[in-house]
Amino acid sequence: MSTKSEGLFNDARTVIPGGVNSPVRAFRAVNRDPLFIRNAKGSHIFDVDGNEYIDYVCSWGPMILGHAYAPVIEAVKKACDNGLSYGAPTENETVLAKLILEAVPFMDKVRLVNSGTEAVMSAIRVARGYTGKDKIIKFRGNYHGHSDGLLVTAGSGLLTESNPDSAGVPKGYTATTLLADYNDKDSVEALFNANKGKIAAVIVEPVSANMGVVPPKEGFLEFLRDITKANDALLIFDEVITGFRLAYGGASEYFGIEPDMITFGKIVGGGMPLAAYVGTKEIMDVVAPVGSVYQAGTLSGNPIAVTAGIEQLKALKADKDIYKRIDDYAKKLEEAYKNNGVPVNRVGSLLSPFFTTGEVSSYDDVLKCDTDKFAKYFRNMLSNGIYVAPSQFEAMFISDAHTAEDLEKTINAINNSISMN
Ligand code: PMP
Repeated sequence: MSTKSEGLFNDARTVIPGGVNSPVRAFRAVNRDPLFIRNAKGSHIFDVDGNEYIDYVCSWGPMILGHAYAPVIEAVKKACDNGLSYGAPTENETVLAKLILEAVPFMDKVRLVNSGTEAVMSAIRVARGYTGKDKIIKFRGNYHGHSDGLLVTAGSGLLTESNPDSAGVPKGYTATTLLADYNDKDSVEALFNANKGKIAAVIVEPVSANMGVVPPKEGFLEFLRDITKANDALLIFDEVITGFRLAYGGASEYFGIEPDMITFGKIVGGGMPLAAYVGTKEIMDVVAPVGSVYQAGTLSGNPIAVTAGIEQLKALKADKDIYKRIDDYAKKLEEAYKNNGVPVNRVGSLLSPFFTTGEVSSYDDVLKCDTDKFAKYFRNMLSNGIYVAPSQFEAMFISDAHTAEDLEKTINAINNSISMN
């Protein structure tokens, strides 16, 4: 008998490419149809067939306080009564900008946009406009959204041109994107040496979380800080995942490093489409209407999204123990995977089990994982009532709504799912 989810998926596929509005949702990597969601509350998500799951996707990160967090929902409902969008400035945009800057006190200005993709695309344009240079360095396996110039993960050698990772991206668009290896200082040094005076910025996920979680090796981020400074290039931390998650001040606070620019998304919007890029006054003043780098948006600073962001950040700021709680929870999950012989990486409340042997500290290590084993584990977890990301190359996200009971159920499910594999 087919499920309601299957029926809805079949219908969706007739009018939406692959039936989904973002590819990973289609569950292709785990060989089953996706769940269609009816609603979510706290740490639990419910599908249209009435199944209930403990949710470790958390909308891919934003729902750090759990789903339908009452203060956010109430504030958003109230804001809706005043209209959904004006395309004109509102006081709350400044309120949110200040809340963001409190997280990164070494920064001066914030521009609000609608998605992480936009934030990164804009930050890179600013870096190029500010430095007057064209090339950027990104790391294989780091994801920075789907703008043309960043859809590159694999090149034909580090010092040669980079090839687009997607059809529809002209080669020229990625020609200025140089690829280095995460956690490999030599690969970065070689690019700087071969492109003297041409590199505008290095962009990095300070903790890689889009190839599964891969922490920076001791000294790697400090090295990036030093080499960018020495070469008059900007260091951009893409904190779309780590921002407001590793600490209120994200990775820059967690690791004690001050990049030149930071991009935020996910948590900063409280679950609404909102993201931001920040920088020092000198850098951000190149942005229009003050400077000559153009960047705009009909719905940027949308009053409803801004309201959700303000309420979520206020809650995170008010109770700093949240970070200790979610980190402790993640630590217990980490132990559960280890006890089952599965290598796991964890930084704060982000973690990934890897179906491989040995340490995972590079993109090449990640690629060695047994994705069939992961797919089986995923399906076992789902049948045990646990919803994790449907891909080996994603993180598990913990929220403050996850309870001791959730933890116990999840550990049992991990034990069952891995032994069933
Ligand atoms: N940067 C990072 C580090 C991300 O993880 C993501 C999305 N997961 C993005 C950028 C793009 O954000 P969005 O999907 O909101 O465009």
